[in-house]
Amino acid sequence: MERVYIGLGSNLAEPRQQIEAALAAIASLPGSCLAATSSFYASDPLGPADQPRYVNAVAALDTELAPLQLLDALQLIELEQGRVRKAERWGPRTLDLDILLFGGRSLTCERLTVPHYHMHARAFVLYPLAEIAPQLQLPDGRLLDELLAACPYEGLERLAG
Ligand code: ATP
Ligand code: MG
Ligand code: MG
Repeated sequence: MERVYIGLGSNLAEPRQQIEAALAAIASLPGSCLAATSSFYASDPLGPADQPRYVNAVAALDTELAPLQLLDALQLIELEQGRVRKAERWGPRTLDLDILLFGGRSLTCERLTVPHYHMHARAFVLYPLAEIAPQLQLPDGRLLDELLAACPYEGLERLAG
């Protein structure tokens, strides 16, 4: 089993329900156990500003799946929840599931870069992550605390349960 952290995001078609449904689907992945989920947060969109705010959360999953097996499974969940891939980068979507960390591994292949290349600069990733893994350290040795100190809590709003 390895501990994986997954970032969830949605800004279309009832985002909170999309995140709830995705968490249920993640919890039922084979060889996997959902260990923790953060609160939900509202965040300002990256990229095109003419789109609704996002709802974001982070989940901790213990899994026997290999990294690309997990990526396949997460992309299937995205598709099942109506994700349409458009040319526009960071456009609105029903569901985005990103692998933030996979155990202590650093991976680079065509389909997968872990740690997620931009997690260190995203408040909507770091603050929910800190709720469920405050002592976390990245494979390169950086502490989550250091990343938080360099990433303002900006455009972020913790949603009441
Ligand atoms: P961003 O990666 O900046 O958050 P995005 O999540 O909107 O943007 P997607 O369209 O969801 O980007 O994914 C584009 C590709 O990124 C996917 O096809 C996938 O193969 C690849 N990818 C690379 N690393 C990861 C990762 N750690 N988690 C999820 N997908 C990844
Ligand atoms: Mg993403
Ligand atoms: Mg993605």
